[in-house]
Amino acid sequence: MEIQVKNISKIYGANENPVVALNCTSMTIHEKDFISIMGPSGSGKSTLLHIVSGLDNPTSGSVLYDGADIHKGSDKELSAFRRQKIGFIFQQFNLLPVLTAYENITMPLLLDKKQADEEYLQKLTSLLGLEKRLSHLPHELSGGQQQRVAIARALIAKPDIIFADEPTGNLDSKSGGEVMKMLCEIHGQMHKTLVIITHDPRIAEMAQRRFTIIDGELSEVNP
Ligand code: ADP
Ligand code: MG
Repeated sequence: MEIQVKNISKIYGANENPVVALNCTSMTIHEKDFISIMGPSGSGKSTLLHIVSGLDNPTSGSVLYDGADIHKGSDKELSAFRRQKIGFIFQQFNLLPVLTAYENITMPLLLDKKQADEEYLQKLTSLLGLEKRLSHLPHELSGGQQQRVAIARALIAKPDIIFADEPTGNLDSKSGGEVMKMLCEIHGQMHKTLVIITHDPRIAEMAQRRFTIIDGELSEVNP
């Protein structure tokens, strides 16, 4: 799937104190790209990722997946599209605290009334080193383990594209390194498109295409 981001702007609080979070941003994401986006705090990274993944609407501009504008349909269509085609990994993991790791991972399927593909689930949990942790609640897991559960959840519906917003931002460097190694494996072995936001230049350099964003202006490094 090819994603075209065309002239996206996002202005928050249009009336009194407008904040221009993104200023006419364009980019094309090709199938199987591994892209990193770096930028200081407040530069518009999360805003961009949320709009490209359909979690938020742009003020103007469009996001086309294979030519179709994802922001044109109903909210219901967009959430179904997101559940089936897109995996999103948050800095704060965003696991449901009352559900076990297994239940968190399979949640997106439940919403679509689908059964887990047990063989695939097993492959995922072994790749992520979670086999012995599936019956645990999030608070019984380390930060790194919680993020690996969140990665499994992002992959369970076999999406084509993974977006990760500072996925190692809440982890110590060792668990962060493990999480990054797994994301790289997922890109390489499972042939997913991977777009990752980071503060960490070492992580940014792992990507094949690197972007920076400053004050809502995106640019590609050595395009
Ligand atoms: P980053 O992820 O790079 O730290 P964000 O995309 O979260 O940056 O934010 C970009 C800018 O937009 C910041 O100035 C931030 O304060 C502002 N912003 C983000 N979300 C909102 C919101 N819901 N309402 C008002 N301003 C916001
Ligand atoms: Mg952010």
